[in-house]
Amino acid sequence: MIEKNLLMQASLKATHQRVVILSIVLNCKNHPSTEFIYELTKKRIPSISLATVYKTLETFSSRGLISKTLTLEGQARYDSNLEAHGHIYSINSNEIIDYANEELNSLISNFFKQKKVKNFHIKKISLNIIGDKIDTEKSIEIK
Ligand SMILES: [Zn+2]
Repeated sequence: MIEKNLLMQASLKATHQRVVILSIVLNCKNHPSTEFIYELTKKRIPSISLATVYKTLETFSSRGLISKTLTLEGQARYDSNLEAHGHIYSINSNEIIDYANEELNSLISNFFKQKKVKNFHIKKISLNIIGDKIDTEKSIEIK
């Protein structure tokens, strides 16, 4: 089971709760909120509390098992995609969609290399694209 191995690699005990929560986050590709993960977790562990789910997600995030991003309103969302990627924030449909492009990544990273940023060490660059969906019934596509 992939979840148990990931937990062990992160030096976390593979408890039933952790395995269930991690499996839910890994299977959600839509940047779920704590509440969304809590609702799904409750179906499998009815006695679990929102605080436990929150603490578990924060532990996963601090150990690098998942990453955390914020909505434009500052609400935490969790992300199982650990590859370098940016986000498209659709305000009117309240969605966060992954966006990754190797050409764009190297363009941005070369730009900052040439700029020789003083007194700052860049660890990560992520591009956020913010806008509204034109047709809310259709999905967002970039070619
Ligand atoms: Zn993402």
